[in-house]
Amino acid sequence: MCGIIGYIGARQAQPILFGCLSRLEYRGYDSCGIAVAGNSIKVYKNAVRAEELRKAVPQLDGTAGIGHTRWATHGQPSQVNAHPHCDCNGKIAVVHNGVITNFQRLKQQLIHEGHKFISETDTEVIPHLIEKHYHGDLEKAVEAALGDVEGSYAIIVLMASESKLIAARKDSPLIIGIGDRENFIASDVPAILDHTSRVIYLEDGDTVVATPDSIKVSREGAEVCREEHKISWSVEEAQRGGY
Ligand code: GLU
Repeated sequence: MCGIIGYIGARQAQPILFGCLSRLEYRGYDSCGIAVAGNSIKVYKNAVRAEELRKAVPQLDGTAGIGHTRWATHGQPSQVNAHPHCDCNGKIAVVHNGVITNFQRLKQQLIHEGHKFISETDTEVIPHLIEKHYHGDLEKAVEAALGDVEGSYAIIVLMASESKLIAARKDSPLIIGIGDRENFIASDVPAILDHTSRVIYLEDGDTVVATPDSIKVSREGAEVCREEHKISWSVEEAQRGGY
């Protein structure tokens, strides 16, 4: 399991995403990628170090985005298998940590229904399932898609026409970082500590809707309250302590 990061706020997402990815590198990875939403979604990814990808990506305009460091479980490390993965129209992008155990059956069904797959990953079924279930409400579409999948996941979903991020977890860690008119979602705390020390730890089964100035956590359709924690350690202290 490697790392995921999401940002939504007023600042340009691209440099923030690469900064956060560099904070996730200690976990190890074989490929990485980002997606930034402006008028459309732009995805850049490859089986390279984050620093190398950073140099290869042109300046992107957009204040919402997602990023991933991958440790391949299904499909070799390659550009096409790196995350984010998209739906047929490139409008929905997803980063995922974990393993979707029933992806073969879902993929066959989705192909039968006309969806076009390009990677060998288990993850790629998720954006296609969201596309299939999307009828104007992204949160509902994500919940319906996750109702179809079995296995483990921490995911963040970005959609071109929506000014929000949707995230969810099951058997894979996920936290929220609360900023000043900006919010972060990440697989672990060090990823976001350069920007905020206000953290919410999510629980299995939680779904999150994040906008620049709001966080809504729900499970089984009902909104729930999750306590905010103040992190008192820095990334450097955590590294010195062998975190
Ligand atoms: N199972 C997914 C893949 O192979 C995600 C791996 C990960 O957690 O990095 O792409």
